[in-house]
Amino acid sequence: MQIIRTIKDMQKWSMDRKKEGKTVAVVPTMGFLHEGHLSLIDAARAAGADAVVVTIFVNPIQFAPNEDFDSYPRDFEHDAALLREKGADAVFAPAVTEMYPAPVTCMVVENKLSKGLCAKTRPTHFNGVTTVVAKLFNATLPDIAVFGQKDAQQARVLKRMVRDLNFPIRMVIAPIVREADGLAKSSRNKYLSPEERGRALALSRSLRAAKSMVEAGEKDMAKLTAFISKEIEAAGGKVDYVEAVDAEDLEPCPVKGEKPLMIALAAWFGTTRLIDNIVF
Ligand code: AMP
Repeated sequence: MQIIRTIKDMQKWSMDRKKEGKTVAVVPTMGFLHEGHLSLIDAARAAGADAVVVTIFVNPIQFAPNEDFDSYPRDFEHDAALLREKGADAVFAPAVTEMYPAPVTCMVVENKLSKGLCAKTRPTHFNGVTTVVAKLFNATLPDIAVFGQKDAQQARVLKRMVRDLNFPIRMVIAPIVREADGLAKSSRNKYLSPEERGRALALSRSLRAAKSMVEAGEKDMAKLTAFISKEIEAAGGKVDYVEAVDAEDLEPCPVKGEKPLMIALAAWFGTTRLIDNIVF
């Protein structure tokens, strides 16, 4: 497994693989890897990738000044060992100075899907994400890019960027990987105390209950989102949002119809903000 640090070396690696006739996939991450990240490598292979590069880069411009950029968990050696074991072909782990040698004055901005849900409390977040992912695409030159449904809004925003800016990249969205008790795997789960972690199970539990209600015929989404909010608050969480939206264009969806619908949420347990979602 190659460990690559510069954009130039990354581009060369990718072009060399393509000359060999290989299909290249990229899996962008911020590291501190868990099985959710590793499942994206399986999804890349299943989508036809012969060469998979995982990027590890904690992107400063997607964190607001009051957020956890400095304290975001990092463990490159452990990540590299996991990726080697998993059979990734390369890791692209550039320094901040390689990605941002000068202050950024040119950004990629999505103006619709990136406005609601998480953007209400993280208004500059998605501009940082679209910009860094465009840069990572230009560094890794992939045929396929894989993202997780865990970050559902991010995946939709990036699909829109690829569509609108004509990136010649096939986008794959892989399902959420959960702990045995239902908690969605996340690098930020590390911040939870054992007690908070137990209380945070209210997220997946209430989403599952909502799904059963929909399967039993409930169509009124306001009822479901109110139910979920109440469950989170009863568990001592602080709700950021619980919303029912169209699963693709993220438009509010008050009544369950024929089209796939998603309930997405964010909530704080202690100082940790967690997200989760379910699609019906
Ligand atoms: P992150 O390192 O948190 O930026 O995540 C990198 C990628 O892994 C994103 O596409 C995430 O959606 C995806 N991911 C994170 N956690 C999970 C999970 N539990 N299941 C599936 N994908 C995930």
